[in-house]
Amino acid sequence: MAFVELKNLNKFYPISGSEDFQALKDVNLSLDKGELVSIVGESGSGKSTLMNLLGGLDSQFSGEITIDGQNMSTFKEKDFVNYHKEKIGFVFQSFNLVSHLSVLDNVTLAMTLSNVDKKTRVARAREVLKQLGLDDQYKKKPSQLSGGQKQRVAIARALVNDPDIIIADEPTGALDSQTTDQVLDIIQDIAKTGKLVIMVTHSEKVAARSTRVVTIDDGKIIGDIRQGEIALHENLLEIQQKSKSKNLTFFAAIRLALLNMKEKLARNILIALGGSIGIMSIIVMLSLGEGVNDYLTETMNANVNPLVSEVRMPIVMETNNSENADSSMMIMTPAGAEIPAGSAPSGPPAGVTQSDPFGEEDLEQLRNIPHVAEVNLAYSSLTIGSDNVIYEGEKYAFMNFGTTSGMTDSNILYGAFPDEGEILITEGVANQMAGTAEEALGKEVTVDVTIDGESLEKNYVISGIYSAGQAIGAFESVYMSAESFETLTAENNLEVEPNVIYLVSDDPENTQAIKDEVAALGYRGSSADALASTFTQMLDIFTYILSGVAGISLFVSAIMILTVLYISVVERTQEIGVIKAIGGRKKDIRRIFVSESFLIGLFSGILGVGIAYLITVVGNIVVENLFDTAILNMTPAFAVFGIVTSVIISMVAGLMPAQKAAGLDPVEALRHD
Ligand code: ADP
Ligand code: MG
Repeated sequence: MAFVELKNLNKFYPISGSEDFQALKDVNLSLDKGELVSIVGESGSGKSTLMNLLGGLDSQFSGEITIDGQNMSTFKEKDFVNYHKEKIGFVFQSFNLVSHLSVLDNVTLAMTLSNVDKKTRVARAREVLKQLGLDDQYKKKPSQLSGGQKQRVAIARALVNDPDIIIADEPTGALDSQTTDQVLDIIQDIAKTGKLVIMVTHSEKVAARSTRVVTIDDGKIIGDIRQGEIALHENLLEIQQKSKSKNLTFFAAIRLALLNMKEKLARNILIALGGSIGIMSIIVMLSLGEGVNDYLTETMNANVNPLVSEVRMPIVMETNNSENADSSMMIMTPAGAEIPAGSAPSGPPAGVTQSDPFGEEDLEQLRNIPHVAEVNLAYSSLTIGSDNVIYEGEKYAFMNFGTTSGMTDSNILYGAFPDEGEILITEGVANQMAGTAEEALGKEVTVDVTIDGESLEKNYVISGIYSAGQAIGAFESVYMSAESFETLTAENNLEVEPNVIYLVSDDPENTQAIKDEVAALGYRGSSADALASTFTQMLDIFTYILSGVAGISLFVSAIMILTVLYISVVERTQEIGVIKAIGGRKKDIRRIFVSESFLIGLFSGILGVGIAYLITVVGNIVVENLFDTAILNMTPAFAVFGIVTSVIISMVAGLMPAQKAAGLDPVEALRHD
């Protein structure tokens, strides 16, 4: 039996609906190794159709094709892949070299698909290129070669896996007569090595150099003339072992994708830039959330005893109390003083704001909250313009007045907590009155403070300087001990009820439960808690806006990547055809495209992380100038999250184009130009 046997081969192309076009009609042909067969015939007679069937690019036929004893009708995808890898080499009229790959990479492509190691791959390719007189050209890109050189590269690519059959569809069709001779010499040499060379040609001259001329007309063989034999000699390529049934590795696919992306660098940079916006938004959003959270936690921990919950009476709208001018904001005034309860005072005058005093019922209710170990009563008021420290005849205004017990000493800059007859003042007041804060220590001043509508004056010694902190709402303040306060009010015949209560928890773990219960009972928590929740609300709004931006831009970039990969599939149709013809599986092609989307995702992600990092650095410099604290905290986890998200989105977007590429019909793909 001959190496190739065609029996009653028929080919029908479906045209429209039920209509078929018959391109091959009962073709019978036996071909053997060592033959150089020319297929001649008019244009449209069925030559290419026959080549595509022989080459296993088209598997739709009726009749029988037997290669080396194997019936092609029984071939599965895997068998076709192996057939392309091991038995067949294609040479095309239009060369079909992959433009973004070097000559060497074009020739090694088939071996790359078979996962042949790099050393073997390069050695074998260079050996073949040398045989074809191209050894000094292997680094060039196809566009840098002449037509004859291109066709020789294509022949090298066909030969490199040492196939049994070479199929050449008009290999000299695009060449001038001199290079045609060169290429024909090579083709003759190939036949001499014992391969079966089947060549489609229009040219009498070309046909004259073959051992056999088969003429086709209208899908039928009308002539088959043998015209001499070729003297066989040894294989001109020493190929030790054939690489079998290994596949394209992930790294090789990445490399192929990279080479293609490098060719369209500007485009890919723009895509990565577009894709990075969404990732950047996500990371900035996360960093902002983290930063604000850190800031709040830090501020609260610096000022608040973890056991203590501050409680104030709810705001009643009829009074002069207004929510945003209330109390000491960030400044805590914990106190341990038992301030005697008395008759309810009249409301404070305009310009003075203070929380309403607690009644007996309120105290009872708060005492009964589970886990409350201690109830401390305190007093605090916020005034505008009426409270002053008088020193050497000059008045220095402060806004917040309160009692000290339970205040953490972490914010005391100089000196100590005040004893009877002493006060603690904030840095700003101290600076104003004495030049430097430290200088104010030990000075005797008159404190003029409005309590329950009465202006009280008394002399005190400054025992310590307190930092008001940099937070918004940190007011200049004067604090004294609860005992001093009691003395002051008693001397002026005032009975002041507590308007701030500090509940001490039996365990830090239970503090939050106490705060929740306080809120449930309708009381207000500390103004720091309120500020924290305002911050959290602002942060939520920011987060919504940024999530919106992130979501939309991620969606847009996914569509962009999808579009670009579709365009890439169209641009690379011919390349996909070539890869299939040299034994690339659907999987390999999918892998190359998925690698490309992986890389786009990776680059967008890295770019997004980079831009986000710059934004956090610049943003923090700006914010630090304003508030003396960094508010954007980008952690490594966010960077990793951003990159992973980017890669996932990009790969999902790349699935459809990759699928489309993998599903292309090689015959169609190779016709594409
Ligand atoms: P040749 O290579 O000899 O010029 P082809 O084998 O390409 O001829 O085509 C043979 C005939 O089959 C032509 O009439 C052509 O129009 C037709 N044909 C080829 N491919 C298709 C196809 N995919 N669908 C329908 N008809 C086709
Ligand atoms: Mg043709």
